Amino acid sequence: MAHFSIQWDKCRGTTCALCWTQAPQFFALAENGKATVHHQPHAADEAAVRAVAGQCPVGAIVEFDDAVTTTGQVGPADPPTTPPPE
Ligand code: SF4
Repeated sequence: MAHFSIQWDKCRGTTCALCWTQAPQFFALAENGKATVHHQPHAADEAAVRAVAGQCPVGAIVEFDDAVTTTGQVGPADPPTTPPPE
């Protein structure tokens, strides 16, 4: 499942307002005047959120996969495999 986040250094906030206008069920205006993802989409709604992300004029809506750790670092999608010893 994907997770979405806003890069606040890029977001135009109230001068844009596209994401929370297009999809208020997922995006909202944060107290700092930028967008925030207040509800992560279920798998069935991910395509709709991606579509909104694709319309963001500055590419501030980013998507992570389940490999994201609590520290915000993105880990490998699958653990590296090593060939069996011969
Ligand atoms: S569409 Fe992009 S720039 Fe506009 S408010 Fe949302 S995150 Fe910010």
